[in-house]
Amino acid sequence: MITQSLISEIVSKQRQFFYTGTTKDVSFRIAQLKKLKQAILQYDSEIAEALKADLNKPEFEVYVAEFLMIFTDIADAIKQLKNWVKPQRKGVEVAFLPGSAYLYPEPLGVALIIAPWNYPFQLSLLPLVGAIAAGNCAIVKPSEIAPHTSHVINKVISKIFPREYIAVVEGGVETTQELLQEKFDHIFFTGGTAVGKIIMKEAAKHLTPVTLELGGKNPCIVDTDINLEVSTRRIAWGKFLNAGQTCIAPDYLLVHKSIKEKLLTALADSIKEFYDAHPIESQDYARIISQKHYNRLVNFIEGDIYFGGEHNSEKLFIAPTVINNVSWQDSIMEEEIFGPILPIIEYEDINEVITAINSRPKPLALYLFSNNKNLQARILRETSSGGVCINDTIKHYGVASLPFGGVGDSGIGKYHGKASFDVFSHYKSVLKRGFAFDMKLLYPPYEGKLPLLKRLFGKN
Ligand code: NAD
Repeated sequence: MITQSLISEIVSKQRQFFYTGTTKDVSFRIAQLKKLKQAILQYDSEIAEALKADLNKPEFEVYVAEFLMIFTDIADAIKQLKNWVKPQRKGVEVAFLPGSAYLYPEPLGVALIIAPWNYPFQLSLLPLVGAIAAGNCAIVKPSEIAPHTSHVINKVISKIFPREYIAVVEGGVETTQELLQEKFDHIFFTGGTAVGKIIMKEAAKHLTPVTLELGGKNPCIVDTDINLEVSTRRIAWGKFLNAGQTCIAPDYLLVHKSIKEKLLTALADSIKEFYDAHPIESQDYARIISQKHYNRLVNFIEGDIYFGGEHNSEKLFIAPTVINNVSWQDSIMEEEIFGPILPIIEYEDINEVITAINSRPKPLALYLFSNNKNLQARILRETSSGGVCINDTIKHYGVASLPFGGVGDSGIGKYHGKASFDVFSHYKSVLKRGFAFDMKLLYPPYEGKLPLLKRLFGKN
């Protein structure tokens, strides 16, 4: 196990390396991003095997849901970096003329990235792309709950980057706690809300800024004005991808009473189309990450089970499951499900739906299936969530121009694309002046100057 003194040594060496200025060079940053992409491609099958071992993740999903965003963000950063690093010229008030104002983006220094287990590769390396693009050094702490992926990340990163630049520190909760004893310039955490609070408390001791990418219960409202087949396909895909272990999976459905029976039938058809009548045999369906999570999830399989419900402890398998006639008071509605179990709550009055959503912690994602433009506008106006996707699920996450993150209990800060560069940058405010026109009005002695000052500025 890694010791506190070794962690301190890595942090201190990274700080020394940062102060050499090497990481600030734009061509250096671009070269490292290219190296990272090359390494992922070179080790793609080993990475896919690790993800299979940890989550039975299908290779297709490794490309779509683990690699694609990393490649998109790397390509975006390589293309845009020369623009992103440019000082941005800003306006200057008359009082400070002659002068010019700028925002200079500068790297923060040494960053700590803490990742969860559900997309263990992407969520370790996607923030790293932002850290590298912005010119930082970084320590990545992958999730110990996905050990094979953690090892392969360590292997790939230590092959391409020296430890004084980018280091991977493997280990469990104790290791994370040791890391948190150090002073970092930024902590980027992805994980659950409860642990997010611990991270923020520890970071506060060093006054370290944090990005917290957290979870929550994401509502999915299904109105009557929809294309039933397309809707249920998109809902089933978003819910059962990675066996429901997705932070932005629709957690529960709020379905209009008049369409519910048809929707349930179509949903069952979509699930069968995706994973066959025997999903335990499907090559395209993931497993639950651990016995602990399996046990937690199995407790939710009760009540009016409309579809699925089968489970196998030895294989950590839980079938795509739909539970009908759920009420807000049921235990499944108390915490984020984070598994392949979909509760259905029916509604007749959209006002009640909006009130219920607003009386709970703000979710990371909110989904609405409806062609009704008035309803779309109303949901956007009257609810708050990290993001919204209308008539689809998950896919807003993939749009690099849309910063991704939560609000309230679902997180602090946003990333992806340029937003990732911004997270790991400090925008330094700079005013440049020459020596002409030194306005003496501002300097003491002040006697007799106030009326003029009031005339000049007081009326604004
Ligand atoms: P987690 O919070 O249990 O763990 C995440 C990381 O925190 C791990 O690396 C772990 O070592 C560390 N950790 C755990 N307990 C700790 C403690 N007491 N002190 C210090 N460090 C500790 O999260 P998880 O179970 O790996 O992931 C699931 C959660 O993450 C879900 O709530 C999900 O919604 C959320 N999530 C959010 C996003 C997002 O982008 N917003 C993405 C994926 C997952």
